[in-house]
Amino acid sequence: MSDYIVLVKQVPDVSQITDNAFDPETGTLIRTRLASVVNELDAQALAFASYMRQISGDQKARIVVLTMGPPMAVEVLRYSLGRCADKVVLLTDRALGGADTVATANPLAFAVRKIVKEILKNDHDYYVVCGMQSVDGDTAQVPPQMAEELGLPCIAYVTSAEFKRNRFEFTRIISGGSQVVAPKKLPAVVTVAKYEYPLFASFTKTRWANEAEVITWGSEDIKATHIGVKGSKTSVIRVFPPGKSSRKCQHVNDAKSLAKVLVDGFKSGDGHAGQGKDAKTSRYALPLKRASLFDRSFEGTQKEQADYRLLADKLAEAGAKAPDQIDAAMKEKVLASSGGQFHQKALDDMIGGLKCTEPSFKGEVWVVAEHSDGVVHPATFELTGKARDLADSLETKVGVCLAGSGVEPMAKELIAAGADNVYVIEDKLLAVFDAIAYRKAIADAINTYWPQIVLYAATPQGRMLAPMVSYRVGCGLTADCTGLDIRDSSRKGDIGLLLQTRPALGGNVMATIRTKDSRSQMATARPGVMKRIPADASRKGKVIRHGVSLSQDDISLDIIKTELGAGHVNFGASVIVSGGKGMQSRDNYEHLVGSLCEGLARTLDTRVERGASRAAVEQGFIERAHQVGQTGTSIGPKLYVALGISGAIQHMIGVANTETIVAVNSDPNAPIFKQCDYYIVGTVEDTIPQLVEALAAV
Ligand SMILES: Cc1cc2nc3c(=O)[nH]c(=O)nc-3n(C[C@H](O)[C@H](O)[C@H](O)COP(=O)(O)OP(=O)(O)OC[C@H]3O[C@@H](n4cnc5c(N)ncnc54)[C@H](O)[C@@H]3O)c2cc1C
Repeated sequence: MSDYIVLVKQVPDVSQITDNAFDPETGTLIRTRLASVVNELDAQALAFASYMRQISGDQKARIVVLTMGPPMAVEVLRYSLGRCADKVVLLTDRALGGADTVATANPLAFAVRKIVKEILKNDHDYYVVCGMQSVDGDTAQVPPQMAEELGLPCIAYVTSAEFKRNRFEFTRIISGGSQVVAPKKLPAVVTVAKYEYPLFASFTKTRWANEAEVITWGSEDIKATHIGVKGSKTSVIRVFPPGKSSRKCQHVNDAKSLAKVLVDGFKSGDGHAGQGKDAKTSRYALPLKRASLFDRSFEGTQKEQADYRLLADKLAEAGAKAPDQIDAAMKEKVLASSGGQFHQKALDDMIGGLKCTEPSFKGEVWVVAEHSDGVVHPATFELTGKARDLADSLETKVGVCLAGSGVEPMAKELIAAGADNVYVIEDKLLAVFDAIAYRKAIADAINTYWPQIVLYAATPQGRMLAPMVSYRVGCGLTADCTGLDIRDSSRKGDIGLLLQTRPALGGNVMATIRTKDSRSQMATARPGVMKRIPADASRKGKVIRHGVSLSQDDISLDIIKTELGAGHVNFGASVIVSGGKGMQSRDNYEHLVGSLCEGLARTLDTRVERGASRAAVEQGFIERAHQVGQTGTSIGPKLYVALGISGAIQHMIGVANTETIVAVNSDPNAPIFKQCDYYIVGTVEDTIPQLVEALAAV
């Protein structure tokens, strides 16, 4: 029978952020001003492991909880002991600090090995159970990367488990629906996306927890291969506050006023229309393609850009025309005339940087294609458009890596969307997505052709596959990027780097990250942010077939059932009304969403379609095909009305391209109110009938 190793993390409590938690000068979050709590999804993972133990009927199964963090992280271990943990391990060492996901997953994997050896006495019948992601990192990369280090299958985004025929079957979230799977063999890693049954600590257990042994290991005890800043493969180069939402976020007092706003807004089209998209700035050009050899206007930070502008002016005054003409006398002149702006060493570095003109990375810009039933995922087309832009700047080609069975016909569409080369990996064993088989195929292609950039869609599939592939090929990875730009860091001799910008800490800060110590720069990018370029059927491209040897041993999961949305939903309609879990029942959904759809169709004289949040679909309020969001459909109507929907990121990603978003929610602090144009605080039961009546009177 299985044992359980649960990973928990101590994180800042981002749900309690107040204004004084931000640095007034930089606008960034001061983490020490926030309380530390157990990461909510890890608490759910702990409860999930306890539930697994209970339904397996094996009360002797051990739950060992592991955390990596500062000494104070012992608090989350006491929390775990007070609930269901039998043993706890604290991995703590200054040397482990400042790590990215690679240098976090690696020591955790080594600690898991030591737990298996010393606590589980080499019994390999175990599950590693973790939360899907932590609120501070928000990457979801650590569990799959740890699985890759341990050579284990990883079942991500699990929402429930059943114990049948002496094994666990897990229900997990996938694009377009859900799937029931079981690992072919143990051990295995499971990440929990949602488990809403909390564990409570009894008084006796809490007393015991406060005295129980905490096994403490340092970095020397586990002998990991990648730790801390040194072992990381990405580095943060800038943290900055997120831009203000470009939505209006306007409170409306009553249904009558809301009806007027809806009708006026729809008729005048005063919405948001495509704002927040991947903003166009002037396109990067390689140094030798710029008008002046001293032009360094694409440095990674504004300070570096300003320094190089000043240097270019001073060099021109000193009579220099090219970097190799700069002699000692000219340097003296620059130093003397720059008003103390440059020191000798900085000046030498900057002039050295001017001599660097060749890109630091070589190779194509790649996109890893996602597809299902012969249809390419829209996010793959968006990324191909972005890759085209990046490749044109870097004067290289766009490659799309297309793995599957019977996938070659899709190559034509990818070429029309901007690809120069489509690398096709065909194998019957790739007919259904299995992360272990796919990561082997894609890593093999990367190891053969070494593109300089690899982009994956930040869908459940991409966020599972990319961490495994990047770890396998030894490269850094940035999760869920909303900005990708090419920039230089000339002083360090780095030209044509991919700067990867992403929200972190629950969207409270933005971070710009670069790859280091890697042969390729890798990122997952948020669907709906990058722009697809118009398809051009006359574009020419090549299909390159890449063979990879796969066997049944590469298939890690039994796929027991897949449930995908079926039926046609007209998401091209100009108005979509969605109901969430706040609709309370299928009858309420039917009656309230139905009546508002009819009212809007009549008053605005337009087609109106029904949508839903994932939670509403899971409650059975409406069929799966109506789900809007990251794992449903991404839509861009003129008007989106969200009824009883909280505004989770996975939902809002799917409506980012909507012109006007209106929300009705009974919770005055509902997160959706900060992401919409107009909102009303009230129950759907009270508000919708009034709104329908008011619409009829407009
Ligand atoms: C990998 C992954 C992918 C996902 N993909 C998607 C996706 O594609 N689409 C999606 O929607 N979600 C997705 N989710 C789930 C998402 O994280 C949220 O759980 C989900 O969007 C919540 O739906 P909801 O807002 O309807 O429910 P809740 O978050 O439970 O919110 C219900 C809201 O209703 C309000 N309410 C309650 N009663 C009333 C009332 N009487 N009147 C008015 N308001 C009321 C509450 O205040 C609350 O704000 C995904 C999650 C994961 C992990």
